This record gives sequence, C-alpha cells and structure tokens, in this order.
Amino acid sequence: MPFDNLIAGEWIAGPQRGQNRNPSDTADLIGEYAQADAAQLDAAVAAAQAAFPAWSTGSIQARSDALDRIGAEILARREELGVLLAREEGKTRPEAIGEVTRSGQIFKFFAGECLRLSGETLPSVRTGVGVDITREPMGVVGLITPWNFPIAIPAWKIAPALAFGNCVVFKPADLVPGSAWTLAEIIHRSGIPSGVFNLVMGRGSVIGDPLVQHPGIAALSFTGSVEVGRRIALQCAERGAKVQLEMGGKNPQVVLDDADLAQAVELCVQSAFFSTGQRCTASSRLIVTEGIHDRFVAAMRERMAGLRVGDALHAGTDVGPAASEAQLAQDLRYIDIAREEGATLAAGGGAAQCHSGSGKTGFFVTPTLLTDTTPAMRINREEVFGPVASVIRVKDYDEALAVANDTPFGLSAGIATSSLRHAVHFKRHAQSGMVMVNLPTAGVDYHVPFGGRKASSYGPREQGRYAQEFFTTVKTAYTLA
Ligand code: NAP
Repeated sequence: MPFDNLIAGEWIAGPQRGQNRNPSDTADLIGEYAQADAAQLDAAVAAAQAAFPAWSTGSIQARSDALDRIGAEILARREELGVLLAREEGKTRPEAIGEVTRSGQIFKFFAGECLRLSGETLPSVRTGVGVDITREPMGVVGLITPWNFPIAIPAWKIAPALAFGNCVVFKPADLVPGSAWTLAEIIHRSGIPSGVFNLVMGRGSVIGDPLVQHPGIAALSFTGSVEVGRRIALQCAERGAKVQLEMGGKNPQVVLDDADLAQAVELCVQSAFFSTGQRCTASSRLIVTEGIHDRFVAAMRERMAGLRVGDALHAGTDVGPAASEAQLAQDLRYIDIAREEGATLAAGGGAAQCHSGSGKTGFFVTPTLLTDTTPAMRINREEVFGPVASVIRVKDYDEALAVANDTPFGLSAGIATSSLRHAVHFKRHAQSGMVMVNLPTAGVDYHVPFGGRKASSYGPREQGRYAQEFFTTVKTAYTLA
C-alpha cells in the first residue's frame, strides 16, 4: 500500500514523495511518503469543514467507541508500531514501545473524557432567569507535531480534538511520517466518518505555513521549536485563531548535598541521555551543590562509561542515534561551543560508532558531560536537543534555585534531595510548568496536564482533562422560564 495522504476519507497521492530513512542505518529506506501541496491542504480543510456539523452534534457514544477502538488497536500492535518508531526516529526499541503504549492509553483516556464534558448551571442575578455554561467544539483544528515523539504527541492532540467534537487536519513532522501514517490508517478504520480526520504530510514551509494561515482553521495546536512556534502565534493572532504552543526546554536538575547519590545519578542519566536527549523535558543543566559535586561528577562518569550507544533496534542499546544528520551536527557544534567557552569535557564529546560493531552508518553521538560551566554560557542558555548535559557548581540550595530559574525556558524542573523543606520550597518556587522531586525531569503521566511557562509554552495546557480548555469554547446561555 502506498503511503498517501488521507483526505475526505480517501488515500490521495501527493505531487511528490519524500524518503523516510533509518537514522541508525541510513541505507535502510523505511518507505516513500506522499508530500501534499497547498491544493490538497485546501481539500483537507474543506473535507473537515463539511464533516463538522454532523460530527460535532452526533452521538458521544459513537465517538467514545471509535476512540476506544483506536486505543485498543494501538495497544495490541505496540511491538510492531514500536519497531517502526525506533526505526524512523532512533529511540531504542523499549523506549519506542513505551511511547506507543502511552499513545494507546491516551486514546482510551479520551474515550472516557468525551463522556465527561461537563458544564455549570447557576442562578441568574435576575429573578426567574437561569444561566447555563456549556462547552462546544472549536470547529476544524490544525495539528502540527515535531519529530521526537512521532506517535505520542500526535495522539495527545488528535484524541482530545476528536473527543470534544472537532474535526482535524494533521501535519506530522516531515522527518518521521511513518508512525503518523500508521496512526492515520488506524483512525481511518475506526468508524470515524470521512473527513473528520485528515492527514497531510510534507514540509512545514510548504503545507505547515498555509495550514496555520488557513481561514478554515479555527484553532491551531503546535509542538516544536520556539522559533517556529512564535511565528505561528503571530500569524494566528493576526487572523484571530486560537493557538496552543508547546516548545523547547533547558530543564534544570538540582542535586543537593543531602541527595541519595546513586538515585541522583540514575535520574540524571535517565533524563539527560535516554531517548538520545531528544526530549523537550530532558535535563540539560545539572545544578549541583559543592558538598556533593565531585562525588556526583565521578559517579556520573562511571555510570556513563557503561552506556551503550548504537542501533535503536539492537538489544542492549541504551542510547540510539540522533534523529538526523542536522541534529547530530547541532549536538557536536554545541559541544565545541561549550569547550570554547571554557567548559571541561568530563565524558563523551563526539560522534560515536555503533556498539554492535555492525559498521552501519548512523548518526551516533556519545552521551556528553561538561563540567566547570557557568549559567551565562550558551551551553546553559540554548536548547541543544541531544545527549549533552552540563554541570553548574553552586554553593547552596538558594543559589541552586536562583540558577534553576535563570533561563528563558520553564518546562520541567527537578530536585534530588532528602530534605522535605527544600523539596516543598522547590515545588512552590521553581518557575516551570512541571516539577519533579527525586524523579527525572522527563517522564510524565498521560492523565494530568502537561506544559510549561516562559518560552516553553503558550496558551492552554495539553493532556488530561485540562485538554478541554484548548479544544472547546465556552458558551453562556440565559433562559427566562
Ligand atoms: P520544528 O522545526 O519547530 O518543527 C515542528 C513542526 O513544525 C514540524 O512539523 C515542522 O515541519 C513544522 N514547521 C516548520 N516550519 C513551519 C512553518 N513555517 N509553519 C508551520 N509549521 C512549520 O521543531 P522540531 O525540530 O520538529 O522539534 C524539536 C523541537 O520541539 C524542540 O525545540 C523541542 O524542545 C520541541 N518539543 C517540545 C515539546 C513540548 O511539549 N514542549 C515536545 C516535543 C518537542 P517539518 O517537519 O517539515 O520541519
């Protein structure tokens, strides 16, 4: 079956095709995927508009059943979809299966949520009048996703969009169309009417930009870089479309003198290097108080020496490749920048060979630890998006908190400590959307809100029941009985 766009319930070839290649083995061609043009985007929006009246007012039982079927199929096929995801994005097979599992759980969660959309009834200040507050779907929503979570981020946008009665035009990242296409195929067979869900694949500059600017798109949910997100926010504001942005991070992980050293090392390794550091919630600034600093660095080096970099599908691989040649180049560039700024290379530091020794050509990079860094260095201010973490030595908790908050970003912040007082203070004063105590900054539940502050996020939160803030609009109705 060719990997075509899904428009109005039909599989439609694009004017061009793009190659999807395996970053662990660039000789491995996963498939050729359609790339849509502006005319196909228009057709997808028109199909969604035509489907909206019936879908938005139809049976919520039918919606719930369809979402449940989608979730069940994803879960039943988690191994197969996990292999596809690992092959196209480069996270390890267990990580990829975990992402697929989470995606299935998200659809099942929203199968329930669409039955729980509640409103309010209040007395009016005017005698004999009643006031009802209800939520209605936005209309046709545009969804644009990045390459680092090829199925989970699409799932956490598509599931609530459909659950609350919206129709969807979905543009996945051009680098990883395989998981998105497979998800679309599952949704297509779920019993959802034609046109309710549409997939248009292709480059952001070719169809992402016209999707954002399309007058038929009432709301736009984007996850990706700050640079693209900010431009999208301006474009949406200009035409009055609702917008939700999830963007980058430069997440701090504080390690205090009283931390359990082994636990602190494990959670830092997990959140800084697993998934090749390609998570918006990855810890990239390890802020360590001076009493534990040297022991922490020594233990990190020892633990990192045991990490195996290699083919994402190979058993025993801890860290897969960078997702693309461009991302590998960015990782290496930032390591150079840090060293030029005066950082010390404590571990890693360059392009790597695949540990299986297969000789495969992939975008492998060694997990890298930089010490002797200061908060003002570029390595501590800009997102690398690779397995690169820097250590900042601080005097005490107060300085650690100040450094943790000294960033343009505010997605996730962690603290490793056995002090209840510091844990409670940090939860209240970390300037981030998510706080982790004795847990990695990356790794979240699917049924609670996800998002950040400052440059990391803009607009209502995603996931959990808070997802309804973006995917619905509130109506206040007055009735004189
Ligand atoms: P990106 O370059 O901003 O791309 C994100 C998406 O936007 C892709 O689908 C891209 O299409 C599309 N796009 C590019 N230019 C566009 C335009 N002018 N108009 C409309 N759409 C456009 O980001 P990325 O490199 O894929 O992802 C990495 C970034 O995502 C990192 O900064 C990371 O922190 C962030 N991220 C944030 C979260 C979060 O929830 N906060 C989660 C994951 C990732 P193409 O694929 O064609 O470029």
